[in-house]
Formats: sequence, C-alpha cells, structure tokens
Amino acid sequence: MPRFYSIRFRLTAVFLAIILAVMLIISLFLYSTLERYHMNNLLEHLQRTGFLASEFLVGHLRGQIDTVRLSSLAENISRQAGARVVFIDDQGTVVGDSVRVGGLLNQTLEHEDVNTALVGEVSSSVTYSERIGHQIKQMAIPVKEENGDIIGVIFLSTSLEDVYQTLADIRLFLFLSTVLAMAIVGGGSVALARRFTGPLEELTNAARKMSEGNLDQHIEFTSGDEIGRLADQFNVMAKRLNYYTNNLKKFAADVAHEVRTPLTTMSLLTKALKEHDMDPQQQKEFVEDLDNELDRLVQLVNDLLELSKLEKNQVEYEEVTMNFLLRDMIREHKYRFSQAGLDLIDFIPDEMLKVSAVSMQLRQVVSNLLDNALNYTPAGGSVTVSLFQEGDEVITKIEDTGSGIPKEDQSFIFERFYRVDKARSREVGGTGLGLAIVSEIVAKHNGRVWVESEEGRGSSFYFALPAVKN
Ligand code: ADP
Repeated sequence: MPRFYSIRFRLTAVFLAIILAVMLIISLFLYSTLERYHMNNLLEHLQRTGFLASEFLVGHLRGQIDTVRLSSLAENISRQAGARVVFIDDQGTVVGDSVRVGGLLNQTLEHEDVNTALVGEVSSSVTYSERIGHQIKQMAIPVKEENGDIIGVIFLSTSLEDVYQTLADIRLFLFLSTVLAMAIVGGGSVALARRFTGPLEELTNAARKMSEGNLDQHIEFTSGDEIGRLADQFNVMAKRLNYYTNNLKKFAADVAHEVRTPLTTMSLLTKALKEHDMDPQQQKEFVEDLDNELDRLVQLVNDLLELSKLEKNQVEYEEVTMNFLLRDMIREHKYRFSQAGLDLIDFIPDEMLKVSAVSMQLRQVVSNLLDNALNYTPAGGSVTVSLFQEGDEVITKIEDTGSGIPKEDQSFIFERFYRVDKARSREVGGTGLGLAIVSEIVAKHNGRVWVESEEGRGSSFYFALPAVKN
C-alpha cells in the first residue's frame, strides 16, 4: 500500500503536478495560437477570394443579368477556393450559385451577413449547417461600383470540418505528449526517489535495530553525496557506540571481578575468625589482613571515583609551571622513597616550563607514576624525574631502575585493570587503574603519554603537554 506521507510518494506527486501544470500551460498556449492561426487563415482566404471575385462581378451585375453565366462563374471560383460561392444582386436575390442542384438561384437570401454587406460592410459568422451536418464559416462581401454604389453581394461559405479535424489532431497530440511526459517524469521521479529513500530506509532499519539493542550495525552504501556521507557518519557512530557499550560492559565485569577478590578474602577471614578459636597473636594477623583488604577496596573505589570525575569534564584550566609542581611532588614523596631504600633524583632546569592544565590532575599523573616507580623498583635502585622542552612540548620523564615491562605488555598497560604481574600488583596494593587514570588525564590535556622499558633494567614513563609560550 502506498504511504502517502513517504518521501517517495510526495516527490513523485510534486514532480507529476509540476509537469502537468507545465504541459497544461504549454498546451493551452499552443492550442489557442494554432486555433487562431487556422481560423485567421480561413478568413483571409475567404476574404481574398471574395475581393478578387467582386472585381469580376462588377461588370456582370450591371444591366441585364445572366444567371447561367454567373452560376458557372460561381462554380469556377468555388472549385478554386474550396467554398460555396453565391452571387446576390442589390435586391437580395440570388443571381448565381455554385451549387446547381438544390441551390438558391432566383431565391431571396435572408441572412444577417448579406444584409450587413448590402449596407457596405464585410460580415462573417459561424453557424451549424443541417445540410452538411457540421459548422460552417460564412462571409458576405459587398460588390461596389467605382463611385461606391453597392450593386450586389458575394456570399461565401466553407465547412470548418478540416480546421476542426486539424485542431482535434493537435489536441490529441498535446494530450499524448502530456501523458508521455508524465509517464517519463513519473518513472524518473520514482527511480530518483528510490535512489534517495532506499539508503534512508536502510538507515531507518539499522537505527531501529540499534534502538532494539542490536548495536552491531553497518550500512553497505557508498556514494559521495549527502546521503552517502550520512551513511558513513552513521557507520562511525554505530561503531563507536558499539565499542563504548562493549567497553562499558567489560568495565562493569572487570570492576565486579576486582571487587570480588578482596570481598572473598574478607569473607574467608571473617569466617575463620568467627569459627576457630585463635590465640591473640593469630587473631591480630587475621585482623591486619582484613584491614589490608579493606584498604584495597577503598583504594579501588577512590580510583573509580577519580575516573568518573574525569569524565565529567567541568574543570578550569590554569597556567601551571611544571618546575614548581614537580619539585613540590618530589619533596612530598622523598620520605617514602628513602623508606623504601630508593634514591629520588631530579633533573629540573632553571628555565620555567609552563603548560595549561588542571593542577590537581597533573599532580595525580605525577603521583601515580611515582607510586608505580616506587612499587616496581627494588630497594637500592633509583628513580629520576626530568623536565625538558622539545619543540612545542613540555616533557616530563620518570625513569626507574626497576623490574621493567615486557615488550608485549607495553601497549596494554594504559588499559583499565591491565597488570603485567597480577600478584606483584596485588602485593603493592595496586588497582590496575593508575596508568588508565594517567592516560585519560594526559589525553584531556591534549598531550601524549608513552613508555620505554626493558625487562630487568627499568622503565621510563614520559608525558608531553603543549607548552605555553612565556
Ligand atoms: P597497578 O595499580 O597494578 O600498578 P597501573 O595501571 O598503575 O596499575 O599499572 C599497570 C601495570 O603496569 C602494573 O600492574 C605493572 O605491571 C605495570 N607497571 C606500571 N608501572 C611500572 C613500572 N614503573 N615498572 C614496572 N612495571 C610497571
């Protein structure tokens, strides 16, 4: 069933209406012009014939009138002109008729055109002839002496059948042209509309499937026009949405998994405390383990909150001097590093290097990187913080002499919950979110972060931010 509100239907209807209107205007104009042309032609032809004949007739109407001669003259003219020719004297009596049998010879012709011609005016009219069964054109032309006296009238009449037939042919031609034009335009517009609406229907179907939860949609439609670009954008959007949704599901599963481990341990510890008699020393150890697991949970929740805060995006950027920020952070961490038997060295230049940033977030980045360096570097090692400018970027480097990261893991460590050595991460109280937070903050600051590392020799973490000109 056709859908009257569909683009396909409306486009076709509009095109058809336009072509119909155009064809009607053209047809009306063409038809009326041709009708006028043919009528005028006929009139001129009658008039010319009449005037020529009137010159002949002047001599014949003077004195004795020979009706036989006049009738054969009328017959001759009639043959050439293709019209009936009747000669009338000044009394209104027919003195010559090209129709011999059943003609009007010697009868008085009572006709309005004849009466008008008898007072000196050319007159013409159209009337229906019962005798021949169609419309005829009549014309009466006065025959005048040189001094202007009217001595008779030439009455001409011809059938309009030929003219009407020609006009009927023209009408048929115009009607067929209109039908043909409408068929061509109608077919063309249906094809055109299908060309436009086909991909739109495909888009609608894909969007409907997405709204039903099936996000894995792709439209196979290639063209460089607006609809092609819309389809391309749709594909990008669907892919991204699919990716985010899958990521979100994976993230929720990962969080559940991360929470389950400490919760299971805590549950086992609590049950053991409840069900077994223990000496105070043993009890203390169990409670300490419980406390550690709780700390881990709290840290996990804090990191998750940090990540969700980053997604809110309502922060104000300010000019941050990296030299001050790094020195400050090194001072804060110095004690923990020395407790762990590590050297914390800084290479911070005198030249002030500034970036546009959210200071608190940059502190978080440096803190996470320093924590990792501390956690994955055995006692006796060292951690060096350097600051320098390269091109338009201010680069911070945090280098340790720790365990290093295997090549195959290096591209994954910035993903949420990715750990190279799960047991080690757990031991140092890691959540697997530290570098994910670093990566998101740096990306938000239009910067980049990367790692260079060799297993067993140490790692260097870099983050580069666009420099603010002094
Ligand atoms: P975690 O809380 O486990 O430290 P991160 O996201 O901070 O999580 O780091 C991801 C993983 O990258 C860590 O589990 C660790 O295996 C590895 N890693 C990070 N920093 C270092 C480093 N400085 N030296 C060695 N390995 C590191």
